Amino acid sequence: MSSPLASIDIFSGNPYESMLVRFEQAAEILDLPEDTREKLRKPAKQIQVHFSVLLDNGRERTFEGYRIIHSTTLGPSKGGIRYDINVNLNEVKALAAWMTWKSAVVGLPFGGAKGGIVVDPKKYSKTELERLTRGYTKALIDIFGPDKDVPAPDLGTGADEMGWLMEEFSILHGKPIYAVVTGKHIHAGGSLGRVEATGRGVSIVTLLALRKKGIDISGASVAIQGFGNVGLHAAHFLHQHGLKVVAVSDASAAFYHPEGIDIDDLIVYSRLNNDSIRNYPNAGAISGKKLLTLPVDVLIPAAKEDVITQENADEIQAKIIVEAANGPTSSEADEILDLKDILVVPDILANAGGVIVSYFEWLQNSNNESWSIDTVNRELQVFLESSFQNVFTEASRYAVSPRIAAYIIALSRVAGKKRSIL
Ligand code: GLU
Repeated sequence: MSSPLASIDIFSGNPYESMLVRFEQAAEILDLPEDTREKLRKPAKQIQVHFSVLLDNGRERTFEGYRIIHSTTLGPSKGGIRYDINVNLNEVKALAAWMTWKSAVVGLPFGGAKGGIVVDPKKYSKTELERLTRGYTKALIDIFGPDKDVPAPDLGTGADEMGWLMEEFSILHGKPIYAVVTGKHIHAGGSLGRVEATGRGVSIVTLLALRKKGIDISGASVAIQGFGNVGLHAAHFLHQHGLKVVAVSDASAAFYHPEGIDIDDLIVYSRLNNDSIRNYPNAGAISGKKLLTLPVDVLIPAAKEDVITQENADEIQAKIIVEAANGPTSSEADEILDLKDILVVPDILANAGGVIVSYFEWLQNSNNESWSIDTVNRELQVFLESSFQNVFTEASRYAVSPRIAAYIIALSRVAGKKRSIL
């Protein structure tokens, strides 16, 4: 999975603060007692590791890694591992908490966690990345476990990394333990449909949001920031459904075509160009910043945190924002988007397709089953449609934004359970 860092100025906000602002709003509405709030504000466990890795040139390099377990109240903690040069404590803390709320809002029996290594994976060979992943696994061997903490892919990681993690964990335990991690290759115990699950989920909720706004699906225009695993698959499914994907960006470039970009053509181009859309000849180049403010029906940020902020929120012209990334909107921007009557499908709902199919993978591994692609996709649809419905019902019941409604549902589920397994 390539890193879909968008070619825009990344606002250096504190995503953990942004998470807390929404948390406090929902906690206030639910009138949660202070002791419960206190327990949920901070991660249950916060681990930082340093471990050295043998490079291909014979030297060693020491890397910094994190694993943060926010909550295990609803079940084993679940969440991805990010390989990115900007990984830091506040980011991983926020991402871990978002995993708790995400699993809870869609009704999975999981808590939330996140991990990361400070590394630019593009600068290392496959063999180095393998040793890096095995080193990280060894450093955290007591943390992971199918009934304790179950990692998955995130930015900069994919099925290769998950396979190495599973293998290393199994070697150190002397037996195969497939359910310790999700997002593996099929031959290593992965689930059909997992790779495209997040993007498929994004497309499912986009169609639901369009219907909600009364916008005709056929020909509706979409701009997508990020062309990594999530952005690419979202673009593919929406294009298949007859939407017009008019703009796409990645870390290297951004393109616009008012009549719609031929997404199949762009996918082939990017695959042939080392997962980059740089110099794509069949659409006009624009700036990454401009992509966010185009007059489109749907804007899909599918890269990183804090790209829609108080600096640019007022310029956004999209009618709907579907948050495929985690935390793409800073808390200060929420109010501006609300005032503009932009419908925001919040990250913890919009990108939950990945963890939902991770849950299916974990179930298949635990029960020694293998589900057909039709079963996976059908079940994914069921989970997302009912969660979407729930979020919008609560939004009107409490007269709040869908984001706060999603937090309300998640918080009441987590707060309602008293014990955690940690
Ligand atoms: N990293 C993905 C996310 O942010 C997937 C997590 C998982 O499957 O556990 O939702």
